[in-house]
Amino acid sequence: MARYRVRWINGIRVMEHRIVWEKYHGRKIPDNCKIHHRDGNGRNNSVENLQLVSCSEHSRIHFGWGKRGNEWLKCCPSCHQYKSMSEYFIRKDNRPREICKVCDAKRSLLYQKTHPEKHNARSARYYRLHKEEIMEKQRLKRQRKKAGVSYDP
Ligand SMILES: [Zn+2]
Ligand SMILES: [Zn+2]
Repeated sequence: MARYRVRWINGIRVMEHRIVWEKYHGRKIPDNCKIHHRDGNGRNNSVENLQLVSCSEHSRIHFGWGKRGNEWLKCCPSCHQYKSMSEYFIRKDNRPREICKVCDAKRSLLYQKTHPEKHNARSARYYRLHKEEIMEKQRLKRQRKKAGVSYDP
């Protein structure tokens, strides 16, 4: 069975949930918005089950994020605590990581212990690739220490 119900209107394939929402609310679905099925069943097109959300909100919902008041929270599958966006590392493509910062740190520490050779090889490789950067950082650190400044710029 298809995930969503479709209808054909004048030979054009349309998602039924979009028609139901637009008919009930008497307006078009704005660009950049999507209709989310609250119960997760894409074929349940009753009006109460359809929620208008922005595209970015929609992908957050599907990655396990939920809104409480004004704050987005997600349950970390590792420690089972609800945490806000700032408590997760954000990937380069703006997607937060699956597990929270605390669990991430624990996991990499554990990795260091259980796979010391791999970890060392990885750090050696990292060092080779970023040698100049690292040396510059160390140089700045020494300089700051000398000057008695402790904060990172
Ligand atoms: Zn959805
Ligand atoms: Zn966690």
